[in-house]
Amino acid sequence: MNTDLEREDGEEVDRNGSEALNHSNAEASEFSTSSLRPLAPGLYLVATPIGNLEDITLRALRVLRSVDKIACEDTRQTQKLLNHFDIRTPTISYHMHNEAGRAVELATALKAGARIAVVSDAGTPGIADPGGQIAAAAIAAGVPVFPVPGANAAISALIASGLSGESFTFHGFLPAKEGQRRTALEALRGHTGDTLIFYEAPHRILDTLADVTAIFGPAQHVVVARELTKLHEEFLRGAVTEVRATLASRASVRGEIVLLFAPAAEATREGKPSSIAAEVRELMKTQGLDEKDALKQVARARGMGKSEAYRELQRERGKS
Ligand code: SAM
Repeated sequence: MNTDLEREDGEEVDRNGSEALNHSNAEASEFSTSSLRPLAPGLYLVATPIGNLEDITLRALRVLRSVDKIACEDTRQTQKLLNHFDIRTPTISYHMHNEAGRAVELATALKAGARIAVVSDAGTPGIADPGGQIAAAAIAAGVPVFPVPGANAAISALIASGLSGESFTFHGFLPAKEGQRRTALEALRGHTGDTLIFYEAPHRILDTLADVTAIFGPAQHVVVARELTKLHEEFLRGAVTEVRATLASRASVRGEIVLLFAPAAEATREGKPSSIAAEVRELMKTQGLDEKDALKQVARARGMGKSEAYRELQRERGKS
């Protein structure tokens, strides 16, 4: 392990990573000098705002101004931010499709002593965004990697959700396909006591909330955080059916969304969620229907198409 590191702001740290300064003047000293020191070579993972431009940190601005180049998920998007803050640093692109190749290229430049920043379109790079492969390549090349923390949608939503931040898991985006999304949610039924955080697209939120209702019950408390830090920021909190009804009553659901909920314990779930297979079986038994008619009835009651209900039935059977 390297024990004689130079921190990015040029101050020496000892082998424990603590300041080689006496404690009483450490803070004052850091505040007064770090902005004047040249930036050390290495990779800087820089968080940018998720809506409100004031959410960029002073350190992020300094780093973006001082690096040799900025690797951007989308150069046009980042250029708007750079123009706003009058930052002239050259940019290059990296994204999902060229990240692996770019990672090798950037690692070579970093090994030669470059100072490179990585930013995503918004928020923290590497969190449901590219950036991780470049960080891994830099680490493998023995290059220092510096986090420059700032805005992140998941954490912003969590801290204002009213849900526990003591234990939480971030799941990124749920699968877009209904069957896979249900399977992913079903796998989380036992996660009681844990706050689950998801990113969701506005055109899928109603379907996802319908799945949450089916799997966790209609009384499951959820939080939908929309347009965080922006003009139309909104938190919807309540039973999943109520939150869904509120969103469904709108002409359209727009904006960026974080969905959070802490699964209620099975015993306390109201309106016990049931599978299509169980409902079909029940109708066949109690009303003497054949499977086809029973499935038709279940589909109608759930507001689903017949073929959609059939696919869901097959999926449930495939799992058991
Ligand atoms: N790296 C980013 C971060 O640190 O939060 C996340 C990038 S991910 C590709 C984009 C998703 O994050 C959006 O679809 C939405 O679910 C969530 N998101 C980003 N900005 C948001 C905002 N202002 N309000 C609510 N959700 C947001």
